[in-house]
Amino acid sequence: MGRINATPTGKGYTLAKTFQGGVHLADHKEQTASQPIKKAPDPQRVIIPLSQHVGSPASANVLVGDSVKIGQKIGQAQGFISCPIHSSIAGKVVSIQSSPHPAGASSLAIIIENDGTNALDEGIKPKGDLSILSADEIKAIVKEAGIVGMGGAAFPTHIKLSPPLKNKIDAFILNCAECEPYLTCDYRLLLERTDEVIYGMRALMKALGVKKGCIGIEDNKPEAIKLLKALPEKDKDIEVVVLKTKYPQGAEKQLIKAILNREVPLGKLPLHIGVVVNNVGTAYATACALKQGLPLIKRIVTVAGSGVAHPQNLEVKLGTTFAEVIQECGGSNEGVEKVIMGGPMMGIAQATLDVPVIKGTSGILLLNKDELALEEANPCIKCGRCVDNCPMGHLPLYLGTYGEREIWEKCAELGALDCVECGSCTYLCPAGRPLVQIIKLAKQKIIAEQKKKKK
Ligand code: SF4
Ligand code: SF4
Repeated sequence: MGRINATPTGKGYTLAKTFQGGVHLADHKEQTASQPIKKAPDPQRVIIPLSQHVGSPASANVLVGDSVKIGQKIGQAQGFISCPIHSSIAGKVVSIQSSPHPAGASSLAIIIENDGTNALDEGIKPKGDLSILSADEIKAIVKEAGIVGMGGAAFPTHIKLSPPLKNKIDAFILNCAECEPYLTCDYRLLLERTDEVIYGMRALMKALGVKKGCIGIEDNKPEAIKLLKALPEKDKDIEVVVLKTKYPQGAEKQLIKAILNREVPLGKLPLHIGVVVNNVGTAYATACALKQGLPLIKRIVTVAGSGVAHPQNLEVKLGTTFAEVIQECGGSNEGVEKVIMGGPMMGIAQATLDVPVIKGTSGILLLNKDELALEEANPCIKCGRCVDNCPMGHLPLYLGTYGEREIWEKCAELGALDCVECGSCTYLCPAGRPLVQIIKLAKQKIIAEQKKKKK
């Protein structure tokens, strides 16, 4: 497992060259990077959507009026790609209804009023030491705990841990790039809960049968790099790979290219080239599931942007509303133009603050006008910046043009489905063209057309 084109930096580590393209962004991480994680108070009421993951929504297995405990399963996974859902507080189910969802539109959610007892579900018990658990047992624990990719993708982790037999996995990467501006939740987890993160990483490696793992981290996190480099001798089967700070370094395909010099072919997944990538928060959640028996009912959320009175990282129970989280950070300042879940490049704009924190909520950003990209779109001036910097080597200007004309088959021919939706093209476009938004729409149309043809 070798690094590529490593060069000395004089900082005590070698710097791996990174992927082609991408952009250098002002990272704004100074707002929260130096502040320890603070635990948010338990909410009086939680809104827990049955869909917090890629795949089929869970189905409720509680009724209105039922009493539930912390960690109790309240939603059963449905189908192959799905995840169970658990209660983050103890209390009474007061409603099961359609509620605004932070990923857009509405979805069915279980509303629970806190009874103040903090009663823990009887099933919440340590699952045994990692040395005695088998790979299959780890996968089953991860599945039952409802763990998903916590960098924002929310893909069920147990599926990643169970690739088809023909796809032999020989490389595991812990994604510590956290390349989106403002976000520092992974960085703080790494600094403050290092042992748990590494324990979780080892568990994921054991589940996959991978002997050696890599931690990919950008060079704008020197404290975390120092800490990881000082891991005890027993952790020497884990290599720390320092990467250039460049967006989207944390995208799976770019991370794999930079660390392993392997390319995921168009239309394929990392597993097709023997690699599994997991996020820091996912490794931490795995450690909590094994060591404490705790399902995924809370997470670290970066609350930042000029619109937040006291930006910080909060440990929040899932189901807490954005409004309560922001209140816990001293409320909002004047001039907030946009509230985003996630990072500013790939995050999702919010229409209301009455949406809950879900498994994929890495950040809540309150941004003012100066922090936002140009809204007004003008004709393309053929400057070529989008082409020069697309990390996937696409031609975003033509994807945008065909997309605007709704010629979806041309978008498909130009590889729209392999766009990683990083938003670099939109960010760089001097004409303010909403390229990534058009490409996302094109992807939906192409997939819908493919499904229609299959039928
Ligand atoms: S076309 Fe897709 S992958 Fe390329 S820069 Fe735009 S959003 Fe990123
Ligand atoms: S960056 Fe914008 S203006 Fe420049 S070529 Fe691409 S679409 Fe056209």
